[in-house]
Amino acid sequence: MSPDLDRLIKLQHLDNQIADARQRIAAHPQRLADADARLNEAKAHVDAAKKRLAENHEAKRALEKEAAVYQGRLSKFKDQQAAVKTNREYQALGHEIETAQHELAAVEEKEIERMVEADGLTADVKQAEAELAARQKAIDQEKKELTAELQQVEGSLSDATTARATLIKELEPRLTTLFEMVARARRGLAVSMATRDGLCSQCHVRLRPHVFQQVRANDQIIQCDSCQRILYYVPPPPPIEQPIVRA
Ligand SMILES: [Zn+2]
Repeated sequence: MSPDLDRLIKLQHLDNQIADARQRIAAHPQRLADADARLNEAKAHVDAAKKRLAENHEAKRALEKEAAVYQGRLSKFKDQQAAVKTNREYQALGHEIETAQHELAAVEEKEIERMVEADGLTADVKQAEAELAARQKAIDQEKKELTAELQQVEGSLSDATTARATLIKELEPRLTTLFEMVARARRGLAVSMATRDGLCSQCHVRLRPHVFQQVRANDQIIQCDSCQRILYYVPPPPPIEQPIVRA
């Protein structure tokens, strides 16, 4: 292969590496933010479960106050009943006592319902907290990996940038200019492999037979007529000899 063509292919590889590294560096803050968002989601589940439990406690306290009111009323009626002089008054208070007892029983029933509900809500809080702890652990690990990956990508970017500068020094300025002109027009891809059936692998246009013939030699700079990319060819690997299997 001509050294110039070889350098242009290498230049393309380095540019791909640089573009990829830049993209990954640019995506890094968003990936951290995504991890934080997933953590906040788990925190919100814990908060919501705790809020439901607190509401349950509050409702239970309100019922306890209500029960105390009925109990007070009940003991007042009982005291009054002990002090009455007539049978009629005694019976009338007996009705009041019965009503207060019914009301108290109904409130106590509701209190029990709230206590049963509290058991479920407490379990919900514990489960949400366990999920938060597990997610916190996973996300801490993920962030560590993201940081390590960022460092690796930054290293790769720095290496590729240095290698590119060295390569550019070895290239004729007119080839660098050509490469960069095509790269700008073609989303960073200035080089294209010709397929074995004679197509430009990037724009998929068929090369003219004599152009394909020249491209296959890999000894000069030839641009695709259609997309202007610099063409090269990778010959097929030599056939592997199949071992003869005897029955
Ligand atoms: Zn093309």
